[in-house]
Amino acid sequence: MRLVLLGPPGAGKGTQSARLVEKLGVPQLSTGDMLRAAVAAGTPIGLKAKALMDAGQLVPDDVVIGIIDQRIDESDCANGFILDGFPRTVAQAEALRELLDRKGLKLDAVLELVVDENALVERMRKRVADTLAAGKEVRADDNPESFKTRLDTYRAQTAPVSAHYAGRGELKRIDGMLPINEVTAAIDKLLGA
Ligand code: ADP
Repeated sequence: MRLVLLGPPGAGKGTQSARLVEKLGVPQLSTGDMLRAAVAAGTPIGLKAKALMDAGQLVPDDVVIGIIDQRIDESDCANGFILDGFPRTVAQAEALRELLDRKGLKLDAVLELVVDENALVERMRKRVADTLAAGKEVRADDNPESFKTRLDTYRAQTAPVSAHYAGRGELKRIDGMLPINEVTAAIDKLLGA
């Protein structure tokens, strides 16, 4: 199963992806996680991405498209994957279609977690508090200022991706304000799982 999960930062994509990974036995491909790994490893891509990510801005399309193009060729993606955080611009969505075409692959579903914006800032605050309570390191972009930029970036560049898929009749919307288990149940129902 090849899936795309769309939704603003804090919508619950990571939580639902983890559950889908368990159920479907396919990997979650999070461009955010891959970029953070590149930053931690100090690779050329990481060096280029760090300041943009910390500020809540997008890294250039060609960088993330290249990462995904290569990652999908790895053997663990043979039965599918869950894309989390990609595509984030209409250009990325178009590039995704092209690279899948080239590989003879197709998406099975594009799911959007729809969440009331007012809830997102509160969720970010809670995530930071939970992370600190667990003695773990808080993401450099999980602060009110970067979070606001991430929401602005989402509105300007990523919301059009939902419209892009909706226009092609490919988008399935899910109420992301429901309790976590109910969101999972709604996704399962849509996927017929
Ligand atoms: P969140 O789920 O909270 O929005 P992510 O972990 O998905 O955060 O992404 C963190 C940051 O990594 C983004 O703010 C952006 O700088 C960068 N990033 C991740 N995915 C992409 C992408 N597809 N295109 C451009 N930048 C990306």
